[in-house]
Amino acid sequence: MKPCIPFDRKDCCPKDLFSSCEPAIRTVREEILVLLAGGWCSLLDISKSVGIPEKDAQEHLEHLRRSLRGKGGLIVSPPECLSCGFVFEKRDRIGRPGKCPRCRGTHISSPRFRVDSRSIPGGLHEKT
Ligand SMILES: [Zn+2]
Repeated sequence: MKPCIPFDRKDCCPKDLFSSCEPAIRTVREEILVLLAGGWCSLLDISKSVGIPEKDAQEHLEHLRRSLRGKGGLIVSPPECLSCGFVFEKRDRIGRPGKCPRCRGTHISSPRFRVDSRSIPGGLHEKT
């Protein structure tokens, strides 16, 4: 790891979320955490912002959900059927459901995700 250069600090710690300033070694999963700590994101938002396919974003979220369990966790806004209002509350998978079990409609909103930044104590570079 490179040493932290003080005059670079304000440029490379944009969100004040990290105690370290090594953006180059930040992983995709950390990028996603930063996004989610900043507000609600859909899989599409994540895929666009981080530059990965939605399918990959989904896999990262599955992993984050497991690793954040008990620390505030991944907060999921469940998808909803846009035809009848059915809410897909209890789901094991994170992706968007194919069709509504109640009306069989396929107009279903994307689930959205966020993370409470307090569930990332000491920043993401603290390895446990
Ligand atoms: Zn429906």
